[in-house]
Order: sequence, then C-alpha cells, then structure tokens
Amino acid sequence: MMNAPQVQGKRRVGVMGGTFDPIHHGHLVAASEVAHHFDLDEVVFVPTGRPYQKSSREVSAPEDRYLMTVIATASNPRFSVSRVDVDRPGPTYTIDTLRDIAEVYGHEAELFFITGADALEAILGWQSADELFELAHFVGCTRPGHTLHDPGLPEGKVTLLEIPALAISSSECRQRVGKGEPIWYLVPDGIVQYIGKRDLYRVR
Ligand code: ATP
Ligand code: MG
Repeated sequence: MMNAPQVQGKRRVGVMGGTFDPIHHGHLVAASEVAHHFDLDEVVFVPTGRPYQKSSREVSAPEDRYLMTVIATASNPRFSVSRVDVDRPGPTYTIDTLRDIAEVYGHEAELFFITGADALEAILGWQSADELFELAHFVGCTRPGHTLHDPGLPEGKVTLLEIPALAISSSECRQRVGKGEPIWYLVPDGIVQYIGKRDLYRVR
C-alpha cells in the first residue's frame, strides 16, 4: 500500500478496466485526467481475462497484456496493476472486478470505475447496474469521435468526462504493427520494445 496523502477519510481508488492489447497513451492520459479531476489517491489498472466483447478476435495472452500494463505504469507512483481479472477463469464481468478490488482495498475505500464511454454503455446495458452502483462511482471517458447516447443513467452515479487525449486505440496500434508501421509515441517506449521482443501483432 502506498503512502496515502490524506490524514483521514476514505481512500479514493480509481479502477481502470481494459483489454490493454496493447496499453497506449490514451489509456494513461485518461487515468491521469480522472485521477486529477476526482482527487484520487491511486489508480489500479485491471487487465481483463477473456473479454466477452472481443470474442471475435484472438486476444493476446493475459500474461503479455498484464506485463505490458505493468511496464507502462511502473514510473507513476500512483498507478498500480491488479491481477484479479487475469487470474479469474472465464469471461470478465465488471461486478466481479469491483467485488474483488473492494476485497483487496477494504470496504472503506471509495471506488471509481473508469472506462471509455463506449464500454460504459455496454456494461450498464446488460450487467446488473443497481449492484454495480452500490460498489462504485462510474466515470465514462469520452474519446474523440465518440458521442454518448444517454442510456438513462441514475443521478449522481455516473460522471462523463471529456478527455483531451489523442484518438489512439489499441486496434490501430495492432494494425500498424501488422503493417510494419511505427507505434513510437502512441505507446510508451517500453511497450514498443516488449511488442518487438515477444513478436506480438505480426500477421503470420
Ligand atoms: P480496441 O481498439 O481493441 O477496442 P481500446 O483502445 O479501446 O482497444 P481497451 O483496452 O478496449 O482499448 O480500452 C480500455 C478502456 O479505455 C475502454 O473503456 C476504452 O474505451 C478506453 N479508451 C481507449 N482508448 C482511449 C482514449 N484514446 N481516450 C480515452 N479512453 C480510451
Ligand atoms: Mg475499445
């Protein structure tokens, strides 16, 4: 546990779920912006196990996605990575992620689940929203080119935050690697090197 800046009161913990295949600067800027906006003590990145939304393509091994997330966040003392989803068998459901994180951080911690606005719509669309809202406040990051349709969200449980990040996506990074195009500066340097070393995203 890191040194908490506040003397008393609840620890404020951001939970950033994602496939992170690979993690890129859009994710890191979003986490940093939300941490600033909500005065968070820490942001925990949680790479998914087998994501149900992405069953149409082969997702990289959880261990590679986990390690890339560790590499990308290592230099920030307020960022950490959790294995709860990677280690849980079966598809990842946000409710399980939040229960497990609440267990680890103690139920006195205040959780903020950070996700893209696109993913937020999907999660609140068919997972048990009432139960989710008991565990966390939800922060939907709007990314360039995405407009959110208000899915009829309850007052005070969801905040939408405009992120001034570049329009970077993992899909674009994978495609660029597949075509032999550079991804320098779209992802942290260590991620460029890890992808090369493990020969990820190459069309075979
Ligand atoms: P893919 O292109 O494969 O869908 P992705 O770039 O969306 O990947 P994910 O791992 O799916 O990456 O993203 C995790 C979360 O971060 C999602 O909720 C996503 O909407 C959000 N996110 C991704 N890119 C950005 C960005 N550039 N700015 C803000 N949020 C982002
Ligand atoms: Mg996505």
